[in-house]
Amino acid sequence: MSLSGVGVSPGQAEGPRIVVATDLHQPENGPAPANPAGEADRIGPAAARVAARLSDRARSASGDARSVLETTAAMAADPALLASAEQLVREQSLPAPRAVWDAAAKFMAALEAAGGYLAERARDVADVRDRIVADLLGVAPPGVPELTSPSVLVARDLAPADTAGLDPELVLALVTEEGGPTSHTAILARALGIPAVVACTGVLAADSPGLAVDGSAGTVSLADGRVRAASRKPRAEWDGVGALSDGHPVKLLANVGSAADARAAADAGAEGIGLFRTEFCYLDATEEPSVEAQRAAYAAVLAPFAGKPVIVRTLDAGSDKPLAFLDMGDEPNPALGVRGVRVAFERPELLDRQLAAIAGAAADTGAELSVMAPMIATAAEARWFAERARAAGIARAGVMIEVPAAALCAKEILAEVDFVSLGTNDLAQYVFAADRQLGAVAALNDPGQTALLRLAGMVAEAGAAAGKPVGVCGEAAADPGLAPVLAGLGVSSLSMNSAALASVGATLRAIDLPGCREAAADLGSRECSCRF
Ligand code: PEP
Ligand code: MG
Repeated sequence: MSLSGVGVSPGQAEGPRIVVATDLHQPENGPAPANPAGEADRIGPAAARVAARLSDRARSASGDARSVLETTAAMAADPALLASAEQLVREQSLPAPRAVWDAAAKFMAALEAAGGYLAERARDVADVRDRIVADLLGVAPPGVPELTSPSVLVARDLAPADTAGLDPELVLALVTEEGGPTSHTAILARALGIPAVVACTGVLAADSPGLAVDGSAGTVSLADGRVRAASRKPRAEWDGVGALSDGHPVKLLANVGSAADARAAADAGAEGIGLFRTEFCYLDATEEPSVEAQRAAYAAVLAPFAGKPVIVRTLDAGSDKPLAFLDMGDEPNPALGVRGVRVAFERPELLDRQLAAIAGAAADTGAELSVMAPMIATAAEARWFAERARAAGIARAGVMIEVPAAALCAKEILAEVDFVSLGTNDLAQYVFAADRQLGAVAALNDPGQTALLRLAGMVAEAGAAAGKPVGVCGEAAADPGLAPVLAGLGVSSLSMNSAALASVGATLRAIDLPGCREAAADLGSRECSCRF
C-alpha cells in the first residue's frame, strides 16, 4: 500500500515507524477506584519515573536545553503537587490520572494569577502533568520520543521546537498528516537534510512496522521496519559565485536560526545571511533573555560571517511560532492576530532591547548588519520600525514583504526603508487564504503560482524604481525551478537553507539574464498543479 502527500524535502529512506504522540486530553473522572489508597500510591512512583527520565536526558543535554530539563525534573518530584493529587484520590475517589490533572490545574491557576515570572511556570507544570498522566495511563508522553536507533518519525504535525531538536543521524525521514510546503516542519526538515513528506493523509493510522519514504515524489509505502540505505540528495556542482552565466549578480544567502546553521551555511558557500530567524534561539525560553544573553546568542550565529552581509530579523513570534515568554492570550485566528512586529507595537521596549543586542552582536563579530521586521502591513509601520532601528544605531533597516497589503504598497514602503525581502511562505498563505500549517490546503501554498509571482514581480519593479534591493527569503528562493524566474523578475538576492545553495547556485550559473526574463515572462501559465 502506498500513501501520497506533498514531498517537501528530497531524498529516500526506509526504517521503523515511530509515532509522535499527540497532546493528552483531560482524563475521565471515573470509574471510582475500588481501592483509593492503592490508587493514590501509584502517583509517587509514576512521578519518580518521570523525574528520573528527565534527569537522564538533562545529563546528556547542554545549555538551555539542560537547564529546562533539570527544572522540569525537579517539578515532577514536587511533593506539594503529588500530595494534592493523592488527596484528591483518597477524598474524592478520582482515578489517579484525573487527580494529577486536577491538582496540576489548581497549581497552574495559582501561578497564572500571580502573573509575571510565576505565570510563565504554568507551562512547565502542564508539561510535568502530561508526563505523569501518560505514565499512569501507560501511553507515550506527548512530544518527540527519545530515539535510540534510526527511525522514520510520523506525527500529526510538529512544533518548531520539536523539529529543531531532531537529530538527522537518527531521524531517517519525517512524515506528517498536516503541514504544507512552507510549514515550519517542512522548512526545518529541509534545513536538516531530512527527507520529508507532509499532508500525508492516513499515515498515522497506517498499521505497519516500518515505512519507506520518498521525499522527492511525496510518497510513503508500508515496509517491514528494517533500515535500508537512506539516500539523501546528492550535492550539485556550484562554483560558489552568486551570479548568472553572464555575470549578472544574484546574491546567494542563507536562512539560519542557530550557530550550527550559520556554520553549515558558511561551509556551503553562502555569501551572507539573508534571514536570521532570531525567534529560533528562544523556542524553549520561559522568560525574556537578558540583552547580554541575546547579544551572545546572536554573536555566535553571526561569527562565521565577519565582514559579510547579514540580515537579522527581529522576533517573529506568534501563530505557528509561539514563544513561551510572550503570552499572547487566545486569539480566534492567530495567523491574523498579534504576531511578528505587531507584538513590538504593543511592547516596544522588547524590540528596543533586541535591537540593542543585535547591534552589540554585530560590533562583536564585524558582520555587516541589516535588520528586518516581519509582518509589516503598511508604510507607516515600516517607518516606525526603521526609526527605532536607526535610534539603536543600526544603519540599514528593511522589512519583510509577506502581507499582501505590503506587496501592493511596496513603493511607499520602499520610501521608508533601505531594502525589502519577500517572505513567500506567509505571502502565499495570505494571498491564497490557505493556512500554511494545514495539510488539506497544502497545494495552494505552492509558491510557483501566477498570483504570488505576479506580486513578487510588482515588488521587484518597485525596488528597481527606488534603486533599492529586493530579496526573497521564503522557501520559493530554495527551489531551483523558481530561482531563474525570481531573478528574471528583478530579485537581487535569494536566501535559503544551506542544503539548497549548491543546486540553486548551479542552476543560476547555467542561465543568463535574458533566459531568466523569458522564464519570468510567462506567469499566466503557472498554476497550482495538484488539483483540477
Ligand atoms: C516567510 O514567511 O516567507 C518567511 C521567510 O518567514 P517565516 O517562514 O519565518 O514565517
Ligand atoms: Mg513569515
